[in-house]
Amino acid sequence: MAPKRRFHIRTYGCQMNVHDAEKVANLLSHAGWVATDDDGAADLLVVNTCSIREKAENRLYTDLGLLREWKAERPGRILGVAGCVAQQEGDTILRRFRTVDFVYGTHNLRLVPTLVAAAEQGERSLRIDETRSLERFDLPERHPDLPDATPGRAFVTVMEGCDMFCTFCVVPNTRGREVSRKAVDIAEEVAALAGRGVREITLLGQTVNAYGRHDVRRGKAAQAGTESFAALVRRLAAIPGIARIRYTSPHPAFFDDDLVRAHGEVAALCPHVHLPAQSGSDRVLERMRRPYTSAEYRALTESLRTARPDIALTTDLIVGFPGETDADFRETLALVRDVGFVDAYTFKYSPRPGTKAAVLSEAVDPALAQERLAELQEMLRSLTMAAHRARVGSETEVLLEGGSARRPGQLSGRDPYHRVVNLTGRAEAAGRPGDLVRVHLVEATPRSLIGEPVSSVRGAGGGKFLKPGAPTADEKGRNARL
Ligand code: SF4
Repeated sequence: MAPKRRFHIRTYGCQMNVHDAEKVANLLSHAGWVATDDDGAADLLVVNTCSIREKAENRLYTDLGLLREWKAERPGRILGVAGCVAQQEGDTILRRFRTVDFVYGTHNLRLVPTLVAAAEQGERSLRIDETRSLERFDLPERHPDLPDATPGRAFVTVMEGCDMFCTFCVVPNTRGREVSRKAVDIAEEVAALAGRGVREITLLGQTVNAYGRHDVRRGKAAQAGTESFAALVRRLAAIPGIARIRYTSPHPAFFDDDLVRAHGEVAALCPHVHLPAQSGSDRVLERMRRPYTSAEYRALTESLRTARPDIALTTDLIVGFPGETDADFRETLALVRDVGFVDAYTFKYSPRPGTKAAVLSEAVDPALAQERLAELQEMLRSLTMAAHRARVGSETEVLLEGGSARRPGQLSGRDPYHRVVNLTGRAEAAGRPGDLVRVHLVEATPRSLIGEPVSSVRGAGGGKFLKPGAPTADEKGRNARL
C-alpha cells in the first residue's frame, strides 16, 4: 500500500483563521491525508493568511519566496494559499508565484479536497467566490485520527462576516456580510464535542454577539433557525459536559440587557470579555466609524461588572489613527486606566488598501505614534501586573493545555479569566492536558500567574467535574476589578 500523503497548514492571524485551519485539516483527513507539524515532511503545504496587519501580508510574500525551494526539493509537492490575503489578492498571487497550485478564499474551505485533487493532475485553481449560503458551515464530523490541538477545548463558529465597515478594517471585504448558522446545528456540534471530552468552547464570529440580530430584528428568527446571541449562549450552557463558554470577538454595540445579565446568571459563561474599544476619544471613534461613545463604552463595562463583579476585561486599541491628537490619545489612556483592563492588544495604525481610513488626511507621524504606543503599553503592563498580584493567594480553576513555554517539564493552562497559569511541580503530578485542575496561585509575573495544583479532575477520562466557571468566595473578592 502506498504511504499516505502528508499535509501541513501554516496559519497566521486570528482565532477564526486558526479554526479555519482546523476545518481544512478535518476535510483533508477525511480525504485520506495525514497531518504533520513538519514542513519538511509535508507533501502539501497550505499557507493560511491574515491581512489585518501590514506585516502579516508581507510575511506571506516572504514565505512564498522561500517556499520556491521547498517546492523544488521534491516533485509532486503541492502549495496552496488561503485566508484573507487570498480572498483579496487571489489572482495576483497565482500570477506572481508560479509555485502556487491553488488559492481559495474564506468562503470556499469545502472545496479544498477538490482543489488538491486538481493540483495532483497539474491544474492550478482559484476559488474566491463569495456566498451567503449556510452550506459553507456544513462540514463532516471531526475525523477520529485528527489530533486535538488543545485537548478539552474547541472553537465553534456561530457566525461569519461583518456588516460594520469600520474605516480601518478590511474584514468586511475579506469575510463578506454577516451570516449566522442555525442554532440547532451549533448545539449539535457542541454536543458532539462534549461527547468527545471537550469542556470549554469558544464561540467565534467576526462580530460574534451580532449572531442572529438581523433575523431577530425582522421577526424572522424562528424561520431562519437563529435566535439572539444571549439565547444561544443559554442553549449551549445547558448541554451536559460543557463547563466553560467563551466568545470572541464581540462588538460593544451588540450587547443587549439579556447578554449582560447572562454573565451573572449562566455559570458556564466565563468571567472574561474581550471588548474591543479601539480608542477612548469620541472624535476618533467617529472617524473610525465605531457606533458608540467613550461614555457608552464605559457604561457597558459598568453593567458587565454589575452583573459579574469579578469579570476581567481585555480590549483592542489602535494608536496613531489619522487625525489623533495628543488630547485624543490622553482620552484613550484615561479609558484604559478607568476601566482597568487586565490586558490589551495594542496596534500602531497602518493603512490597509481598500479601506476608508487609508485615504483620510492628517496622518500621525510614525515616530509620534510609536511614542504613544510605548506609553500605552507601559500603562497596560502595570495594570496587568497589578491584576496578577492582586490574585496571588487565591484559588482558581485551570484547564490544562500542555507544556509551559517558559518552564520545560511543567504544565500550563488558562483560568476562567483567560489568564495563563503555569503550574509548579512536574507535569505528571499536576494532571494532563484537558484536565480541569484547582490551583492555588502563588506568584505573579508580567505575562502569567504561577500556581500549585490543589486537586486534579480528569477532563476526558470520566470522574467528577468541578463546578464550572464558579469562583470561590475568596476568588470573587480578590478578582473584583482585576
Ligand atoms: S466590527 Fe469593525 S473591526 Fe470588527 S470586523 Fe467588523 S469592520 Fe472589522
